[in-house]
Amino acid sequence: MDTVLIDLIYLVASVLFILGIRGLTHPRTAVRGNLFGATGMLLAIVATLLDQQIFGAGMDAFAWILAGVVIGAAIGATFALKIELTAMPEMVALLNAFGGGASALVAGAVLVSDTDPSTQTTIATVASGIIGSVTFWGSLVAFDKLRGLLLPDRPVIFPAQQILNGVLALTALGLGVMVVTEPANTEFYVGVVVVASLLGILLTIPIGGADMPVAIALLNSYSGLAAASTGFVLNNNILIITGSLVGASGIILTMIMCKAMNRSLINVLVGAIAESGGSQSDADEVYAGRVKSTSAEEVAMLLDGVRRVVIVPGYGLAVSQAQHQVRDLATLLESQGVEVEYAIHPVAGRMPGHMNVLMAEADVEYDKLKEMDAINPSFEQTDVSIVIGANDIVNPDARNDPSSPIAGMPILNVDQSRTVIVIKRSLSPGFAGIPNPLFAADNALMLFGDGKQAVLDLVAAVKDAA
Ligand code: NDP
Repeated sequence: MDTVLIDLIYLVASVLFILGIRGLTHPRTAVRGNLFGATGMLLAIVATLLDQQIFGAGMDAFAWILAGVVIGAAIGATFALKIELTAMPEMVALLNAFGGGASALVAGAVLVSDTDPSTQTTIATVASGIIGSVTFWGSLVAFDKLRGLLLPDRPVIFPAQQILNGVLALTALGLGVMVVTEPANTEFYVGVVVVASLLGILLTIPIGGADMPVAIALLNSYSGLAAASTGFVLNNNILIITGSLVGASGIILTMIMCKAMNRSLINVLVGAIAESGGSQSDADEVYAGRVKSTSAEEVAMLLDGVRRVVIVPGYGLAVSQAQHQVRDLATLLESQGVEVEYAIHPVAGRMPGHMNVLMAEADVEYDKLKEMDAINPSFEQTDVSIVIGANDIVNPDARNDPSSPIAGMPILNVDQSRTVIVIKRSLSPGFAGIPNPLFAADNALMLFGDGKQAVLDLVAAVKDAA
């Protein structure tokens, strides 16, 4: 096919990708955005397959590609259908790994087959090799840590770790220079890949399991950069554009997540929160004799006649899969004339948009999901806030205690509502590992239990009380 026509199709595909990302910024347009992205990808794949380079390679090449497409699509579709929402970061980690690995392999294949590569090609090959290998192994470590297979969930830290990482990075760069000066000597590229692989592992092991979603967003960005580099190796415009889009959006997401957690990226990358977690004695100090537990029946009585209720979903709601029961509770309260809204914290749960997706799954109207800045001023006029499986995102220490590990993290000000009901199984800490004075506050009542069961009990009790 004419290269001009191919470039034109690539341009249309790129515009569709950008429209897709734009659509994904709001739940109402997300499905359409997804469709734009998928259509762009289909166009890009078809145009690439019709490219002379591949077409000229004969039917054998097509048979291999087709086999890859069929097997890959079957594996991808199976995973997409089976994966739990809470396991989405693991799935994304695997996808990033494959993206990075594929970039490094394709760049290596070009180096092996090209007898006289240009300097642009060799520099781009080195970039693909380093970034792709770091992404591949880093993402596999991230996957492993989240799954709890081989490596511990906690940060793995040892003396001189950063120095070793620096030495490895310099060695990879040094070997990269050798690739550029002696491209025919492919052992240098193998060396780049081996050293960068080690670096990928060592860069990821100090990151704690709970910080992993941030690291995965960063690795996502790396996988885009690796793809863009491979685009330069192949002189393929669509790969350069899509790689850059993924690279840029990944780093923007990383920064948004860090900001919402009030952590610097460096702090996340060196596993610093593990050192600052709270101890049991801290917890005793905060909770001893001050925590009041309640029952579903008591809460139902409390809810009788209230005007405004705010529901705060957190990680525990996702774990217990209580979204449908929560929606039922809200509908029941609304049928009694209560105004119900949901307060969505940007890092509630374990991935960006986690709570939005959960609530959308339960068909909660988007208008009822209020972002933190929009809902915070209204807590003072809220009769009852019901916190379900959330902890850090409602910890007033973030606001009040400058020495707290989460000091400065913006939180949902539920403690300012008249009464706070907290549904969780125990007084165990959340991801940050610190006690939460909210649970001991005068206006707080703990409804201990699994999120789903507790909300089911609450629905039954509210019905009984009506
Ligand atoms: P937290 O991790 O602070 O707390 C979750 C709480 O859920 C726990 O205290 C736990 O208490 C409770 N829980 C667990 N299972 C259940 C269950 N089956 N039923 C009821 N409760 C349950 O979650 P938050 O959503 O408040 O905060 C998210 C944290 O994750 C923040 O610190 C954020 O910085 C961090 N984070 C978020 C990311 C994101 O992108 N969203 C990425 C990386 C980190 P108990 O065991 O007593 O039940």
